[in-house]
Amino acid sequence: MNGLMMQQPLLISSLLVHAERHHGDQEIVSRRVEGDIHRCTYRDLASRSRRMAKAIAALGVKPGERVATLAWNGYRHMELYYAVSGSGGVLHTLNPRLHPDQVVYIADHAEDQVLFFDMTFLPLVEAVAGRVKTIKKFVAMTDRAHMPKESKIVGLLCFEDLVDANDDHFEWPTFDENQASSLCYTSGTTGNPKGVLYSHRSTLLHTFAIALPDALNVSARDTILPVVPMFHVNAWGLPYAACMMGAKLVFPGPGLDGKSLYELFETERVTVSAGVPTVWQGLLGYVEAGGLKFSTMRRTVIGGSACPPAMMTAFQQRYDVQVIHAWGMTEMSPVGTAAILKGKHLDLSPEERMAVQATQGRAVYGVDMKIVGEDGAALPWDGKVSGELLVRGPWIIQTYFKGEGGDPLVKDDQGRGWFPTGDVATIDPDGYMHITDRSKDVIKSGGEWIGSIDLENIAMAHPAVAMAACIAALHAKWDERPLLIVVKKHGAELTRDELIKFFEGRIAKWWTPDDVVFVDAIPLGATGKMLKNRLRDQYGKHLLAQG
Ligand code: AMP
Repeated sequence: MNGLMMQQPLLISSLLVHAERHHGDQEIVSRRVEGDIHRCTYRDLASRSRRMAKAIAALGVKPGERVATLAWNGYRHMELYYAVSGSGGVLHTLNPRLHPDQVVYIADHAEDQVLFFDMTFLPLVEAVAGRVKTIKKFVAMTDRAHMPKESKIVGLLCFEDLVDANDDHFEWPTFDENQASSLCYTSGTTGNPKGVLYSHRSTLLHTFAIALPDALNVSARDTILPVVPMFHVNAWGLPYAACMMGAKLVFPGPGLDGKSLYELFETERVTVSAGVPTVWQGLLGYVEAGGLKFSTMRRTVIGGSACPPAMMTAFQQRYDVQVIHAWGMTEMSPVGTAAILKGKHLDLSPEERMAVQATQGRAVYGVDMKIVGEDGAALPWDGKVSGELLVRGPWIIQTYFKGEGGDPLVKDDQGRGWFPTGDVATIDPDGYMHITDRSKDVIKSGGEWIGSIDLENIAMAHPAVAMAACIAALHAKWDERPLLIVVKKHGAELTRDELIKFFEGRIAKWWTPDDVVFVDAIPLGATGKMLKNRLRDQYGKHLLAQG
């Protein structure tokens, strides 16, 4: 017997309708690329999103088609989140930190139809505009006064012109909640980047989950400043959760340095933020140097890579800002766990509580996880034994866009699919997961992936190189930076500087390896694969040692 309750699809547009109706006067503040501070409300956001939805339809975008962005965190980007997905299109947030070749590959793979971009990225867009196959329209996210006087892009459109050309009489369409809403590419360890295609349903369920008190804890009393980019897994879902809860939003635009962030935290009375550890290093450095305090900040979510315990201590003990250490992946929308204390931890000593908070945390409801050994059998949750971490749940990937890479899931004995995260972890009896290692070889620099294989391929293209391995070497500022381990061809001459120079123009500048170590041989495993773990053990602290 079925229940007798309403069938109503979970659609992203419903978040905006709710925010307009219940929190219409709540503010959205943005530091713009133009340099000024812009203020609007959820009412404005809703109205302009409806106008933009009409503009996008007029550009010829059909339901299910992809609309790409290359943009910072700001109100215009937020409007596209709702205008594109709400009207049945798929929002594809491109990562502007990628090399132009990768941007072209990803845009072609996604079959993007329109590209919206912040003026910062005009040179990048000009570099790719003549090469991308499917993008027919380019829109600069600015007003008429700030449009470039001349541009290589033929027929460049202006965001504000599109808004002005339409009124806001528009009803958000109703459709199946399983329809695609947005697309993010993750750079895989092997081969090309793969697309993760979220649905309205997965996004809404994820939004409910992250807003909960024992997750990111979002409310109508909060002022949230998401430092995590809207081009990185939808800023961890905060643009959706803020609408659901009616929180004030503060967007930092391109100003991600300690000084710019601190000023916004203080002037806008920010209570909650979220970002990768590298960003907080910059902010803490600025606050410490100036002997400053946070007057309103209460919590910050730190994830994307492990939060160093020293950073947690600084925030909590020196500045009275609670750290929520969270873990997740692009393939998980992204939030999987958050390290929030249970009632029984409250009487523990500060050190004992810190040990709990330093883990990657416990699963939010909706995420099921397990650790398995090499034979695939589940391992005990004793906080000691480590194994590969597998997850399942309604906002976790089933398969990559266009089936790239085949079926990613591993079946259990009941035939249920689990997604292997590539992380190695322990889980304690209370369910707190702790990542001890990652089985992937990608390098995480300032929270962003750098694919080691791409760098190895370039090095291998040098005529004097016989073999090259690229590993993640620890770095004081960026957490990790690429380090090349190279075997020269017999009798060949090659210096470090020559090889580093070889990368110029072949890869985004920040992907360039920081250093090169020449060796006689690279250790190989039984199947001929380079044993990078062993290289990491040997050379992982090479850059730190250089100071
Ligand atoms: P991405 O898909 O780019 O978000 O990267 C996901 C990966 O980042 C995970 O599989 C982990 O290896 C790593 N990661 C994310 N959050 C954390 C964390 N809190 N601690 C350690 N590693 C993390």
